[in-house]
Amino acid sequence: MAADHVNLPPAQHVKVLDGQGWVGLLESMGSEVTIVNAARVSLGRCREAMDDQDVKLLKYLLEHRHTSPFEHVVFTFSVHCPLFVRSQWQRHRTWSYNEISRRYTEVDLEFYVPPQVREQAASNRQASIEPLHVDQAAARQLIDAHNRAGVGVYTRLLEMGVCREQARGVLPQNLLTTFWATVDLHNLISFLALRDSADAQWEIRQYAVAIKALILPQFPSVAQALGW
Ligand SMILES: Cc1cc2nc3c(=O)[nH]c(=O)nc-3n(C[C@H](O)[C@H](O)[C@H](O)COP(=O)(O)OP(=O)(O)OC[C@H]3O[C@@H](n4cnc5c(N)ncnc54)[C@H](O)[C@@H]3O)c2cc1C
Repeated sequence: MAADHVNLPPAQHVKVLDGQGWVGLLESMGSEVTIVNAARVSLGRCREAMDDQDVKLLKYLLEHRHTSPFEHVVFTFSVHCPLFVRSQWQRHRTWSYNEISRRYTEVDLEFYVPPQVREQAASNRQASIEPLHVDQAAARQLIDAHNRAGVGVYTRLLEMGVCREQARGVLPQNLLTTFWATVDLHNLISFLALRDSADAQWEIRQYAVAIKALILPQFPSVAQALGW
């Protein structure tokens, strides 16, 4: 099965990184009314649909960090991203993950080539700046050549009989991986605040933006209150 067809029809993925990666919403549980009902459990009240009072309550909960009602809404995403984005993402320990294993399969190797390379920021050792003085074509060609060379060494090692779990060590960080990620809305909001931020690496930021687009139709009042 091609990686592009894992779990969801491609049309249901939001493409990111110039179409090289994607994120899809596999499943979700709960809605905005779930949040306000959870907040009102203590009063023994339950509603079928949101009204203006509920929207106000929802905003109040967000403003005052009454976070637990948001934990009753849960999402499972399918993510296709470079290994370095995966590493940043999986630092978020409140998510649950399952990922393709390169101990099991050597098929469908795909590699990210940045649509644009960026310059190293002088002031912040973690950050990058817009591509002003970099030879774009030459840099992208180098990255592509290195990705291909990595596959060449990997394939040669497999042909020699080396096991997949060791051979994979030569594959570059640009290797695209696929994982499922499940999280509740409280922890998703924290993730999005950190990763759709000027401080975050551009690549993971594109996934955070895509997730907002995926869930916004179901959570318009949350999105509005948070300024998405
Ligand atoms: C711009 C940026 C740059 C970064 N740079 C680096 C870097 O250079 N090096 C690096 O190592 N990491 C770096 N990180 C990762 C960062 O340190 C966090 O690990 C990551 O953002 C996950 O955040 P979190 O712990 O709040 O999320 P989660 O792991 O999802 O946790 C959510 C919340 O749950 C609580 N929690 C979860 N687990 C525990 C626990 N074991 N003990 C106590 N409380 C817990 C905390 O309140 C936490 O805020 C960076 C992150 C960002 C956004």
